[in-house]
Amino acid sequence: MAMQTTLDDITTKLSSVRLPTAGLVPMTTLDYPDHLACVVFLQGCPLRCGYCHNPNMIPSRRGEPQEWQAIREFLSTRQGLLEAVVFSGGEPTLNAGLSDAVKEVKALGFKVGLHTAGPYPDRLTQLLPHLDWVGLDVKGRGKEFDRICGRPGIWQLHARSLEALLDSGLNFECRTTIHWKDFQLTDVERLALSLADCGVRHYALQVARSEQCFDPTYSQPVANTPSTAQMNALVSRLKPYFDQLELRQ
Ligand code: SF4
Repeated sequence: MAMQTTLDDITTKLSSVRLPTAGLVPMTTLDYPDHLACVVFLQGCPLRCGYCHNPNMIPSRRGEPQEWQAIREFLSTRQGLLEAVVFSGGEPTLNAGLSDAVKEVKALGFKVGLHTAGPYPDRLTQLLPHLDWVGLDVKGRGKEFDRICGRPGIWQLHARSLEALLDSGLNFECRTTIHWKDFQLTDVERLALSLADCGVRHYALQVARSEQCFDPTYSQPVANTPSTAQMNALVSRLKPYFDQLELRQ
């Protein structure tokens, strides 16, 4: 009876969830490690990365109840087929309704993953007990973070998010999108080593795509782009500092 009441409470409360959904990938093996997952993209992001290739997801808006309702209905047809649901964006933690949506997804029996750049550490900290995996974007090192994401003051907020993740013991990955307009090879090495020093064990370097960038100058060729051999040498140097280091290009 107590269980029934709890589920009823959840259903009643969560039926009013509002999330501005921007898209759904119904099945992927790439967005949650070792799990068959779907990805729910949420509209809105407070950052302005020059290389952003989803600039249409940057403007924020209020979600309508039927948007989340449609996702719930989709998920109810995937129970036993998918293992996990990943919330991505945009910046999913921008939305106050995310917490209730996460609880509902858990109640449906899925694991929950989150892609975030960590600009809302308090909201992330509240979410962590309900999450199973996090992919944390690290735009750059210290104040470089703010320059790359185009917003002042974010790097301190991100540092609090990283600290909360490290303290939580949750399985997570840090990932850095590298556009050679933002980085020299030595910057990447310094950033990776500083993350390893903090205790990050899983790290991914993702080479930015050049099409459809938020800042059109990021679609132009960059003179200091390293060779494949230089990138491979960097990865070889960094590998000993992590349990897992991936180069995604
Ligand atoms: S790339 Fe930057 S601006 Fe684009 S959605 Fe991600 S965090 Fe936001």
